[in-house]
This record gives sequence, C-alpha cells and structure tokens, in this order.
Amino acid sequence: MTRTAVHVAEEEARRQEEFIREIRELPQRPQTYHVVTYGCQMNAHDSEKIAGMLEEMGLREAPQREEADFVLFNTCCVRENAERRALGNVTWLKEVRKTHPNLMIAVCGCMIQEPGMAEKVLKQYKFIDLAFGTANLHQFPELMYTALNSDRSVVQVAQDDVIAEGLPMRRLRQDAAYLTIMYGCDNFCSFCIVPYVRGRERSRQPEDILQEAEALRDSGVKEIMLLGQNVNSYGKGLEHPMSFAELLKRLDEMGIPRIRFMTSHPKDLSDELIETMAGSPHILPQFHLPVQSGNDEILKRMNRHYTREQYLDRVRKLRQAVPGIGLSTDIIVGFPGETEAQFEDTMSLVREVKYDGAFTFIYSPRVGTRAASMADQVPEEVSSRRIQQLIALQDEIQKETLQRFVGQEEQVLVEGLSRRSQEAVSGKGRHAVSITLPGSMADIGQIVPCRIIGIKNNTLVAERIERNG
Ligand code: SF4
Repeated sequence: MTRTAVHVAEEEARRQEEFIREIRELPQRPQTYHVVTYGCQMNAHDSEKIAGMLEEMGLREAPQREEADFVLFNTCCVRENAERRALGNVTWLKEVRKTHPNLMIAVCGCMIQEPGMAEKVLKQYKFIDLAFGTANLHQFPELMYTALNSDRSVVQVAQDDVIAEGLPMRRLRQDAAYLTIMYGCDNFCSFCIVPYVRGRERSRQPEDILQEAEALRDSGVKEIMLLGQNVNSYGKGLEHPMSFAELLKRLDEMGIPRIRFMTSHPKDLSDELIETMAGSPHILPQFHLPVQSGNDEILKRMNRHYTREQYLDRVRKLRQAVPGIGLSTDIIVGFPGETEAQFEDTMSLVREVKYDGAFTFIYSPRVGTRAASMADQVPEEVSSRRIQQLIALQDEIQKETLQRFVGQEEQVLVEGLSRRSQEAVSGKGRHAVSITLPGSMADIGQIVPCRIIGIKNNTLVAERIERNG
C-alpha cells in the first residue's frame, strides 16, 4: 500500500501568509534575526525557507547572533556531538539575554523531532521561546505569532508526513540552489535516526519540482542540487509514478547548466540512472555513494541491503559509463561489534575504489535506533585510532586520484575569494573537486574555464583559459 503525503493546501498557505502580515504589523516584533544551521544540506535548505519567511515578516538579517533580536537554531541529531553543541550554544544565548532582555530564542530541526525532546525542552530549557519540528516548518508564521503573544514556551511537533509547497525562500546563493525532491526515508539503517525524525519517504509532485527548476533557470541559477535522503527511490507512492532517472531526464532537457544530487543509496542505484547520467550534458560527472563499511557482516547488521561485491559492481558500472567520474562516500568506523579484520575490509575497499573524497565518522549511538542497543559497542579509543588510520589512508589516496586532473580542462563555478589570497578564487569543478585559480570578486557566481596545473593541500590549482572569439 502506498502512503499519500499530506500536501499543504493553498488555503493553508494563505492562512500562514495572513500570520506573516499580522507579525509585520506588530509593534513589539523583533527587528533582526540570525539563523544558526547544523547538519546536512536539507537543514541548510530549510534555513533558507525560514529566513525567507522571517524577511517577509519584516525582519532583517543580523550578521552576528549576539546582535539579533530573534535567534533560531536549526538543529541536527544524526550525531550526538552535533546535538550537544547545539544545546550548548542555546544555553549560552541565555546569558546574552541578560543584556538583551527582548531576545527571542527558537529551536527547530531534527533534534526537536526526536522522541521525548519536546518534553525535555519544556522542562529543562524553559528560556526557549519557540520550538518546532521539521514537519511544522510551513506553520512557522503561525507559531511565531503565537510565541510573540505568549509568556510561555510554544512547542509544536507534528508527524512528519507533510509536503509544503510555495514557502517564501531567501536563497543563500544566486548562482547555485538547493531543490528538494523528496522528504524522509524508509530504509531504517540500524545506526540512523533520520527515519524517526524526518518521517517516511514522500516525493514531491514532478510538476512542482519542474516548475521550481524552471523558475531557478530563468532567474539565472547555474547549478541545482537535488536533495533527498535517498533520491534514487524518488517517485515511490506518487499517483503517477516517475523514476528518479526520468525526473533527471526532464530536468536535463531544461538546459540548466549543472545538475547535481544527493544522497544516493547503493541498493537503489539503477542501470537506468547510470545510463541517464552518461547521456546527459548537464548532470555533473560525480556521484556521492555512501558505502558505510567494506565488510558484509557489518553491512548486514547496518541493514544496508547490499554486499561489498554489489557495491563494487555499482562503482564499476558508474566508471564504465561515465569515465573519470568523481566519486565520494560516507564511512562509519566503530560500528558495534566491528572487529579489527572487519575494519580492515573497509580499508581495503577504500584502497580498491580510490575515492576523490570521503566523509568519515565514528559511530555515534542514537537512542531509539537498533544499533544503539547492540552488544559490543566499540571502545572510544579503538574507534579513534581506526578513524585516524582511515583518514590518513584517504588522504594518501586523494593525492593520487587528483593527479588524473592535472593537465585537464575544467569548468569552475566560482563560490568566493580564496581564503589564502585576495587575488585568487575558489569553487567546484564538474567533478565536485575544489579548485583554486587566479581571479577576483567579479568571477563569483560565474562558470570559469580553466586548466589544472597542480595540487596543493588536496585542492586542485588551475590557470584560466582565455577563449578568443
Ligand atoms: S538511507 Fe539509511 S543512512 Fe540514509 S537517511 Fe535513510 S536510514 Fe539514514
């Protein structure tokens, strides 16, 4: 049976617009805001929506949180230390309120959606004015209005089965944009809390996605990043199903210069998707394919539904179809019960695949997940030693894999001035590798052709190619 996500109706959107107008007229409303974002791109994109709504309410962004009248923490709960850091910063703000009595403190995001967290906020963090979960994002104007008219904390956590369309947005960049295509996850990897806090998988209607993409293209956006916890299973449960590959084809036809996506689950990476990538001029030759472990037994206990060999088969297919493709991954070390030999399997897989980049993590038990109650939790010092070994290996490999770009032409979407020099700029090439090249502020947001001439600190160094005529 397919579940139908609750599509936030136009009527509801109008109701929220009403609250935005009311807040704009309130004499006691905050004048400035600052949003602090933790975690993944989904959270960064949610923060863009929140900032958009705050600006519609008449607030202006304050560059520092200490200067703002309204501070919102958009939290992550994937790892325990992200959660601890967020709560530490929220508590620190309580001190700021001593000199800024009208300061409003709000918390949202995955952490609030965790079981029991809303109650904890009400009891232990009474100074928080407003807290809401990821499923309540579209109700933010209403909740903000209620909080502004109340002396007590306003806390709202709904079931996460909502797809909200048409929210105002304040995009962080004009040249590149996030575009969410689906929400939630059905995979229940045994270490992951996402399905519990972001809810079950639900896809946006293709026409809503295409319309948003069209508007982005027309506004001059050069790169879109399609977002979802598992974009490869896009389309499940839609009335008229559409595969992720089909959606990509439709987006490719629009002529947006660069299309990227994340995150992908190896078990759902279809041949159709690989072929679509191979035939597209706009889908970038790069793939983020989390492996998590190189050992079959660990993969099974992680509930990943693929073996090492099946994963390697996907990598081979990708490399055959898209020669030179940039590959990156996520890896967890110290999963419960991971032996030295099983960790060595991960090391050997990394040696075999030769990734261009890897996000490496020490396993972090999350209450409510299956892995948290597994026996044989790996001691901290063992996990720390393993991650150091893995980072050192990946570093070495990266130096080697980056060599293939030297002498090649690339196209960089310039993100900003280089941190090391005012006469250089940096950005990402088509393979998602960072590139530094000579340039100035005028290049920011432009796609600049260049030739790679070297490697410095795992970053490619390039010279510009001046094209005549
Ligand atoms: S695929 Fe697994 S790791 Fe990724 S969000 Fe879903 S449950 Fe978490």
